[in-house]
Amino acid sequence: MTDDLFPLAVIGGGIGGGAAVLRAAQNMMRTVWIRGDRATARASRVKYVYNIDNMIGIHPDIVRGKVLELLQGEEHAAARAVVENAHLHIGTQDIVDNVVERVRGEFAGTVTEIEDKAVSARREGEVFVIETGAGATVKSRALLLSTGVMDEQPSIKMRTKAGKVIDDIRWIYPYANNETFLYCVICEGHLTREASTVVFGAGETAAQIGILFHERYGIPVAILTNGERFEAAEKTRALLGGYGIRAFESRVVEILDGDGEGPRGTSLRGFRLEDGTTVPARFAMIAMGLHRVYNDLARQLGAELDARDGPDEGKRHVLVEAATSETSVPGLFAVGDMTRRRGTSPSYKQIYTAQEYAVRAVNTIDLRQRRARREKAVPRDG
Ligand SMILES: Cc1cc2nc3c(=O)[nH]c(=O)nc-3n(C[C@H](O)[C@H](O)[C@H](O)COP(=O)(O)OP(=O)(O)OC[C@H]3O[C@@H](n4cnc5c(N)ncnc54)[C@H](O)[C@@H]3O)c2cc1C
Repeated sequence: MTDDLFPLAVIGGGIGGGAAVLRAAQNMMRTVWIRGDRATARASRVKYVYNIDNMIGIHPDIVRGKVLELLQGEEHAAARAVVENAHLHIGTQDIVDNVVERVRGEFAGTVTEIEDKAVSARREGEVFVIETGAGATVKSRALLLSTGVMDEQPSIKMRTKAGKVIDDIRWIYPYANNETFLYCVICEGHLTREASTVVFGAGETAAQIGILFHERYGIPVAILTNGERFEAAEKTRALLGGYGIRAFESRVVEILDGDGEGPRGTSLRGFRLEDGTTVPARFAMIAMGLHRVYNDLARQLGAELDARDGPDEGKRHVLVEAATSETSVPGLFAVGDMTRRRGTSPSYKQIYTAQEYAVRAVNTIDLRQRRARREKAVPRDG
């Protein structure tokens, strides 16, 4: 328990949380950062984005080029060869680790870290009171959430080598880890540009992604509903037909892997369905909607959620103001994938958007706190 009242508490140790904490530290705002624990990290983007390649500025060749410049001369030939062949991709974990190092090194004393998950949040007057899993109580004047989302994953009814049928999502992990199963159209869609691709999903979103891939990349596309009924608007069905995109409704019973090169997950060949059909594919895009929006704390505090997401509250995004990232609860801000910005469509779920809206939120909090100081310095009636 800390009696300290922090100007800001940030919950979430991913991209949005990291960007908010760095901004707050650079504004010299005393901040407590509740980063989550192993379990929340495993269920977040921090552990699953290994290779960011849609952002200018984040690219292995920038670092490689600079290091190679330092390694000129015969005596460095061996080191140059290592650097030239090194896998220098940058993932979300690298970004967050770097923020942690920076705030510890450059802003020690400004940021207090708690490596635990927040389990509850309430308001006592103007103050937010947060409880962590291990029982710590944290108090703050402003609260920023960036706890993320998790996608729905396809369960595959596949047979083990020993002959046992296991119906589980675990079959897809090696493919997700090797970017042959994809989740993000903007970030990863371009990887499919020369290869046949299936889209997992049974609704309009999956159909629209299939159409987009076909139009943008000119590739063969199929839709796998994995046992569900395919449902899309008449106009969409007509377009799918015109492009030769078929929706297969049979369950997937085998992921066809391997051309003899590389470990499992690196070379997807296609899918075998329960009705005996084989659908060739080098990539699979998962478009089955969200399994969870981690909005529990926002809900406890009474923040308005986006009802357009359907009846399940656990799948609703938190509505925020586009200019400030503030929720319907004054002083409560939310950023990153868990949010939808009012009046802005679409709300991109990207590293750079999480970062921009984290900065908007922290600077809004900073401005309000500085305004309060101004009022004290020159009272209105003084
Ligand atoms: C496969 C894939 C590839 C992607 N590639 C790119 C890309 O190349 N470029 C790009 O711009 N974007 C990419 N994205 C999107 C990007 O990863 C997300 O937009 C970004 O990570 C969202 O940040 P966030 O802070 O909302 O959530 P996350 O980064 O998921 O962070 C959520 C954090 O909240 C913590 N947490 C959850 N619950 C609690 C709790 N109760 N208490 C405390 N902490 C909690 C978790 O531990 C985690 O640290 C990709 C996404 C996917 C799925």
